[in-house]
Amino acid sequence: MEKIFSETGVVLTSEQMEKFEKYYGILTEYNSKFNLTAIEKKEDVYIKHFEDSLLGLELLKSGNLLDVGSGAGFPGVPLKIMREDIPVTLLEATAKKCGFLEILKGELGLKGVTVINGRAEDLAHKAEFRERFETCVSRAVARLNALCEYCLPFLKPGGVFLAYKANAEEELKESLSAIKLLGGEVKEVHEFSLFGAKREIIEIVKIRHTGSIYPRANGKIRKCPL
Ligand code: SAM
Repeated sequence: MEKIFSETGVVLTSEQMEKFEKYYGILTEYNSKFNLTAIEKKEDVYIKHFEDSLLGLELLKSGNLLDVGSGAGFPGVPLKIMREDIPVTLLEATAKKCGFLEILKGELGLKGVTVINGRAEDLAHKAEFRERFETCVSRAVARLNALCEYCLPFLKPGGVFLAYKANAEEELKESLSAIKLLGGEVKEVHEFSLFGAKREIIEIVKIRHTGSIYPRANGKIRKCPL
């Protein structure tokens, strides 16, 4: 599996490699109980979950990281394995999946990981979370305009949101006014080829405070995107 990481230039220590091996074992052991992922074949998990999560590694800021809608830990946990120095918060709406994330955290011996069960649009209004993070990441949670409303309120001004997408040209076009309204600015769209599959990370910098009415209630975010 080391070959898979080296293909995209990520270099791991033997300890990090062992953690990914263990992660794969835990993911497949608990998958049926927690309904975590449709991908189970080892090579596919390494490419489509682990390696894909690490595409944003070089874009992280040095401070704390929030993963919104973490599911089985992607992309937050692979990033944490590679950057032990960064405190990571995994936010997940489903209590059952949070149970898995707690098991994962314990079994991998991860320090500085907090699992929070709740919805982004609720927690972003709480003082302990609002404008508290340097980097926010999110993958496969919502269309970009809704995702920005979930994620940008969590960032400090100067912080960075990394939206993991496959092909986001259309989504980006329809989200430009939302990004501006929420205090963000698109810095760059990073394109990757992951074993032939197109992947993108949209890097959005928070340049202004987000207005206190955002995020709106979930029904509004989904039905009337900004
Ligand atoms: N990010 C993971 C990945 O890429 O494998 C999980 C993706 S899964 C398709 C979407 C996850 O986001 C689900 O676990 C869901 O419960 C969570 N989610 C969706 N909306 C959310 C919200 N508003 N706040 C927190 N979590 C949310």
